[in-house]
Amino acid sequence: MAHKKTIDVQAAVAIAAAEAIAARTQGTFGVGGLMLDQHGNVLKSLHNNVVKDGLIFDPTAHGERQLIDWYYAERAKGRALPPPQDITIVTSLDPCCMCSGAILAGGFNVVVAAPDQESGINYDHSASFGALPTLLRAQAADSFSYPAILGSSLYARAASGAAPKSFFIGKTISEATQALCSLVFEATSAEVMEKFSADHPQELLKDPAALPASHAIVRALKQQYPDALTYRCAPCQPDAGLAPFLLQAMARDREHGGTGDAVALLDGYGNLLLCMPGRMAQSGIRSAFMETTRAYAQLRYKLMLGASREQRDQVRHYLGHPKEGTFVFARGPDASALSFMNLGAYGSTMEGPLPLKNPAQLQYVLPSMPEADMAALCAAMPPLYRNIIRIRPTQVADSALAAALLAANGS
Ligand SMILES: [Zn+2]
Repeated sequence: MAHKKTIDVQAAVAIAAAEAIAARTQGTFGVGGLMLDQHGNVLKSLHNNVVKDGLIFDPTAHGERQLIDWYYAERAKGRALPPPQDITIVTSLDPCCMCSGAILAGGFNVVVAAPDQESGINYDHSASFGALPTLLRAQAADSFSYPAILGSSLYARAASGAAPKSFFIGKTISEATQALCSLVFEATSAEVMEKFSADHPQELLKDPAALPASHAIVRALKQQYPDALTYRCAPCQPDAGLAPFLLQAMARDREHGGTGDAVALLDGYGNLLLCMPGRMAQSGIRSAFMETTRAYAQLRYKLMLGASREQRDQVRHYLGHPKEGTFVFARGPDASALSFMNLGAYGSTMEGPLPLKNPAQLQYVLPSMPEADMAALCAAMPPLYRNIIRIRPTQVADSALAAALLAANGS
């Protein structure tokens, strides 16, 4: 009884496709997914939530990422769920780098319907996972399934990657369901990407430090992060003055079950907007970068939701898109799954080319791997990340900032 097989791959993908259609009606990326236990019982199904109410709500709210956070949240509440190795995520679209990193960091299995030539981890259809850091490729080959699609249309394909778990009865996807998964995503992606370019370039932005302390924007910023606007450097040039803020967040990250991770967001004037720790005790994928990019997007969303056109325009002028500013990571990327998730989430935050004047948008204080290895890792990422966004982490120029972090962390 406990090992009764309960679901076809086709039936599971059909649920993901229905979620993808719901995402399309919400005006967000048309992607959906579900989570199954080791008997094929559906634990949870949901869809992409990057856009809500016509606004960017959360650039990290992809289906797979939300399912994984849901899983950890349920476990934190005391629910007995099987270990990640016994869990299968079924998704209508090939996981992006953020979601692939999250899946691999937790050790989950995944069954994938439609391909994604731009951001999918299997963008080249080889199932060799060359887009991943070398040490993660074998794990992906053992846990990422691309079931066969029988037929003769352009949607047909042979099975590749890992075999779907044994509880699945049928192990193929119908051409029509696969076509639905592809078409729903294709119908939404350009429209959603445009939402990311609704923001003003730096030349048109205004300085939030010039606003009175009683202004709604300043109050919202301070509510999210009390030290907001208390530090300012030359644009794109974080200096040693940022050290106390990073150190405080790193200490809080350790209190929250992390290893001392922290990420600051500076705006295009050099104002400190946020500096946050991770919340790893709550979920194995709530890293400092995930928390920071999400907090900033939701701050803007809340200020704009239900606001007049004039108020929305004011929010867009004082709180620009993060691509005009600088994300400062306390620690640079390494070859781990969590770090790859962060780079992917960074890509999902940018979603399009960086401004020409701001190529060093992603800066880090302490290196975690040789620069050449990091460049190779970024150059192997799928086309969206390497050709369009051109992710290129850069070490902060001010060596006094690195010295301050090293000194406080006992090297
Ligand atoms: Zn994703």
